[in-house]
Order: sequence, then structure tokens, then C-alpha cells
Amino acid sequence: MSTTMKLPELFGSLVFNEETMKERLSSASYGAWKKCVTEGTSLDIGTANEIAEAMKQWAVEKGATHYTHWFQPMTGVTAEKHDSFINPVGGGKIIMEFSGKELVRGEPDASSFPSGGLRATFEARGYTAWDPTSFAFIKEGSLCIPTVFCSYSGHALDKKTPLLRSMDEVSRQAIRILRLFGDTETKRVTAQVGPEQEYFLIDKADYAKREDLRMTGRTLFGAKPPRGQELEDHYFGAIRPRVAAYMKDLDETLWALGVLSKTKHNEVAPCQHEMAPIFSDANTACDHNQLAMEMMKKVADKHGLVCLLHEKPFAGVNGSGKHDNWSLGTDTGKNLFKPGSTPSQNAQFLLFLAAFVKGVDEYQDFLRTTVATAGNDHRLGAQEAPPAVISIFLGDELNAVVESIIKGTEFKDAGKRTLEIGVDVLPAIRQDNTDRNRTSPMAFTGNKFEFRMLGSSQSISGPNIALNTIMAEELTQFADELEKSTDFQADLQELIKKTFTEHQRIIFNGNGYDDAWIAEAEKRGLCNLKSTADALPAYIAPKNVDLFVKHGIYTKEEIQARYEIHVENYTTVLTIEANTMVDMIKHQILPAVSGYATDLCERADSKSACGVACKYEQTTAAEVAQLTDELMDACAKLENGLAAIPADAEAAMQYSHDVIVADMAAARAIADKLETLTASEYWPFPVYSDMLFYV
Ligand code: ADP
Ligand code: MG
Repeated sequence: MSTTMKLPELFGSLVFNEETMKERLSSASYGAWKKCVTEGTSLDIGTANEIAEAMKQWAVEKGATHYTHWFQPMTGVTAEKHDSFINPVGGGKIIMEFSGKELVRGEPDASSFPSGGLRATFEARGYTAWDPTSFAFIKEGSLCIPTVFCSYSGHALDKKTPLLRSMDEVSRQAIRILRLFGDTETKRVTAQVGPEQEYFLIDKADYAKREDLRMTGRTLFGAKPPRGQELEDHYFGAIRPRVAAYMKDLDETLWALGVLSKTKHNEVAPCQHEMAPIFSDANTACDHNQLAMEMMKKVADKHGLVCLLHEKPFAGVNGSGKHDNWSLGTDTGKNLFKPGSTPSQNAQFLLFLAAFVKGVDEYQDFLRTTVATAGNDHRLGAQEAPPAVISIFLGDELNAVVESIIKGTEFKDAGKRTLEIGVDVLPAIRQDNTDRNRTSPMAFTGNKFEFRMLGSSQSISGPNIALNTIMAEELTQFADELEKSTDFQADLQELIKKTFTEHQRIIFNGNGYDDAWIAEAEKRGLCNLKSTADALPAYIAPKNVDLFVKHGIYTKEEIQARYEIHVENYTTVLTIEANTMVDMIKHQILPAVSGYATDLCERADSKSACGVACKYEQTTAAEVAQLTDELMDACAKLENGLAAIPADAEAAMQYSHDVIVADMAAARAIADKLETLTASEYWPFPVYSDMLFYV
């Protein structure tokens, strides 16, 4: 990265953005692209050819030699297939070529991407199609073109297609509501997202020595070090120089790619950090979060570090999540979740708020499934991340407003003003950072909701598809009702009151980590889907399938396919973890501790031959030998369990959760005890204190 470049020049320098397009396209083509993006019109091939040519020229000037359609299959990471621009022209010469056809459509062999049975392997072709709403960019010498990815029969095989569909749908429905409030200007409502990304950085040399980190992204063994995060000195603490150099490099890399990286700080656990960009439209936010995760890993490598994005790399210290800040904004610059400053805006805000509250209550089970992964199971409900129960935090002031609406009593703010919906102005809701409830899974933070249950490694697409679609559904219901109304003010007030009354159970402003809340939530009838295995069946509950089919986000086949992919992924992840565990026990831990016990016995022998006390050697050897045999048995049990995983995918998921997870925990407990007894030089890989407190 050029260090001489000033930030404004650096920012977006590798992006074929609007400004570059304006410069390099004819005004007719630029206009056609703009219309395509703002109004969803299609581009003719002539325009596509011109854009492709301009893109290629620009990319080649920047040193690119290849292009790739860049897409987001159901693996949760991005995929790319690079083709060079070269085209032979005879006489051993080439020209650099890139056509509109190549820009608009690609045909990667899709047979090795998860499809959940949507694409028969004999029809291996998948199609990628350009997403003109997300800018092309250059990464490592390739022009990357963001695309959707679908099957021959048109089924979505990726995470972008349904996200774009859900963004369109929530826009359509939100505009119906805005029209009722007399807004005739807004043409587009955009789901806006700002994801805060947590990660760990450890030394590459330690990582290389840990098979579990290399195979699974998390440590499968590791006794608690003498010091964890108790001193609470890491959170927002001074950033050590090596990490600071990494963060600077990461920022510059992301800025060049047009990612609005804004905030960086240390997190709670040792070696844990966070990066947050400034929010953007949900589609861009999703693309950029994928790019950020990729670059976090690549930049770490340059600094002799490894970036761990797993939700729980280390037991005993906090794991990593991702806070998905979500709101709706109009193309006229208004945020629909910002409390109003006029009586009419006030009522409009309360209506959008009511829709959100109703939606989260009705689809709490589905929202839970969007964050259900094997990795995230280590966090949710474990006193470090929100509980597995979904609830909404509104804060004291807004909660008091909602309560007064429900009770029909007067709301009195500090100025003793009373509130009537649609007549009064809402008291300014303070965006007070200090009393934010960090234990809530879904917190209102002034002008947006913060969905805090996401795992650090997951694509943010699924949760945002759900939020957009749920919101679209509730707005549809409200619009259907209010468009028929003959007394808008009265019916509006009634609707808001009714909605808050019926869905108040989802609002909770207390401590989400408290056991009392879990009991209370059960009384309220809220779902407590503790694990992925408990949660995933809700993915295809009829009411949830109906929701997505009704709004054209997924077909029935698409949602079923996605369900199957998620179910299989859970078992696959656990199987890899369990196999890695078996491997490490057999090839590393057992031989090491056996050697250690034998050496202790030999030392005890020589010591007693000299008539010297050898209690330490004997007791330690006895304890180690005992645990060694126990570990061998636990390992055998785990292997037997692995061999007995049922063939049926759903049964396999349940079995993996019930049997494999428990057997892994049992084996780990023994191994961790052995670690504390074994001399450092014998232990076969770096331990937590080496990895978490490196300099
Ligand atoms: P925190 O205190 O949780 O770290 P910040 O105020 O720093 O929160 O914001 C976190 C994220 O929320 C950032 O990515 C920010 O850009 C994003 N954000 C701010 N306003 C909105 C909004 N209206 N819609 C969506 N995201 C937003
Ligand atoms: Mg946050």
C-alpha cells in the first residue's frame, strides 16, 4: 500500500465507483447504469459492453491482469474464478479483452458448492450475474465483479440474491406506509447496516503448532491460564505496537477497497480486537464485511500473525461476535427509526417501531436460526453474549412511552408534558451510551437496532434477509389495514396501541444474563432455543416458510435447500472437530504424557536407588498414568460415537449435539487436567498462556 497517498486519494482507489464511472463512461451509459441502480431497469448489451471496456481499461491501468465474478455461495465465504483478459490475435500476440457478456454473466462449474439438492450434479453449471448495485474492485491483480449466483433452473444458490430481494421488498412496503403519512417524495427505502467485527490475533508460530487451530479455527484443548480477562485491562486498552501496525495496514487495505473502516479497539479478552465500519446499504455492508474478513486474515499473515474469526477460539475467555446495526433510511435522507420532531413524524416513528416489535415477537424463532451455527453455540447463553432467548431492549424512556400507550395513561417526561400519539412530539430519546444494555440480543440504540447475536465468522446476509423480510411483512399488514381506513388518525392510534399491547412480552429492559430472566421469558412464552440443533427445525416451520414465499424472498425449494445445508454443516463441523481431537490425542497427547510418566518413574527409580525421597515423581507419575488411561478410553468413546453418526441428516445433527459434543467435552476435561500436571517441555503444543500473552 502506498504510504505517500493521502487518505482521500487512497480511499476507494481500487474501486470502480460512481465517480470513476462518471469520468470514464459516456453520459448515456452512465445514465443507464444510474437508472438501473436506482430504478431497477435492465441494461442493454451495448451499455454493458461500454461499461466492461471502461472497467477493463481502468483495471489494466491499475495493474490488473485477470477478472473474476465474485460471489457468495452457501459456504458463508466468497468464491472467485479468475480468467485473464488475454485474447490471442495471431502471430504470438495477445490483446487484453473483456466484453459486456463476460461482465454480465458467468458460468462457473457449480458442482462443488453446497446447493442443498437444488442443483443435480449432472447439471453442474451455475450462473453468476452482475450485481450493478455493488461496485467492482481490484484485489490482488484481479478485477472482482460482485455477482449473484444461481442454478440452471434459476434457484438462488447464494447469500446475495435473497438479500437483494428482501431489500426491494422492505422498500416497497415501507413506501406504502410513508405515502399514508403524506410522503410523496421517497422513491426508495434502504436497509442500512453497520457490522461490528470482533477477532483474535495470535502469533503465526503458535498457530502453526496447533493442529486444532489449523483444522477447526478453535482450540479443542487448553487449561485455563493463571490469568484470563479478570483484570479487565484489555478492553479499550492501549494497543500494542505490533497490533497497531497490523491495524494500520488493515485500515489502509480496506480504505483502498472502499470499505469505510472507522473504529478499532481492543476487546475484552486478551488478543481480542474489533473493527467497525461506517454503516452503508445492507448489500454493500454484506460485501464489505466479507472483504474485511478476508483482508483481516491476509494482512495478519504479512505481520507474522494469524487472525482468528471463530466464535470461540479459546475457552474461559470471551468469544467473538458481530453486532449487526440495522435501520431503514429513505433516499431523501431520513432515518425511519429516528424519533420524530413533529407530531406526524412521532406517530410514524411509533408505527415503524410497533412493526419491528411485532415482527421480532412473531418471528423470534426464525431470527434465532439465522445465528445458529456450531461455533456460535459456544457463546449464546454463556454469560458473555446475549442469551439464546430473543427480546428487545428499548431503554427506560422509550419503554415508558410504550407503556403509557398501552395503558392509555399519560406519559410524563421531565417537563411534565403528556403524550398523545400523532399530536405531541416525542421527548428527545437520549442516545446515552453509558446505560446501554450490553446483555440484550436486540437493542434499540437511538436510531437503529443492534442485533447482537451474530457469530464473528458468519455472513451477515442471513440475519439481514430475516430483518428486512420480517419488517416487510409487518408493514404490509399495517399498510393493508390503514390504506382502507376512513379515519386515519384514530385507526393509527388504535393500531399502535393494539400492536404494543399484543407484543409487549418481547420487550425486556433488564439483565439478559440473569437466570431469573430465562425463567420469566419462559412464563412469557418466549422461545429459548438453546443450541443449533434445537433452533434449526424452526427454519422450516410452516409460518416461516410462508413468510419468505409470500414476499418472494425464497421459493419453498430454496428455503428447504438452505435448511438442509445448515443442518449438514452442523454435523460436518462437529465431525471435523471430533476427528481432529482424536488425532491430537492419539498422535500428540497420549505419546507425550506416556513419555512423561515413564521418565518420572525412571527418575523415581534412580532416586530411590540412592535412598532419596521421590514422592513427587511417584504421585505425579501415578496421576498422569491414571489420566492417560482415562483419556485413551474417552478417545475410544469419541471414535465409537463418530462411527455411529446416523445417516439421516436431521438425526445426525441431533446425535452430534447430544453425543459428540458431550464426548468431546469429557475428553477435553481429562486432557486439560493432564496439561496442568505435565512438565512444559513434554507438552506437545503451545498452551493458552503462550498464545494469549505473547509479546
Ligand atoms: P457501539 O457503541 O455499539 O460500538 P457505534 O455507535 O460505534 O456503536 O456504531 C456501531 C455501528 O453502527 C457502526 O458501524 C455505525 O456506522 C453503525 N450505525 C450507526 N448508525 C446507524 C444506522 N442508522 N443504521 C445502521 N447502522 C448504523
Ligand atoms: Mg455495538
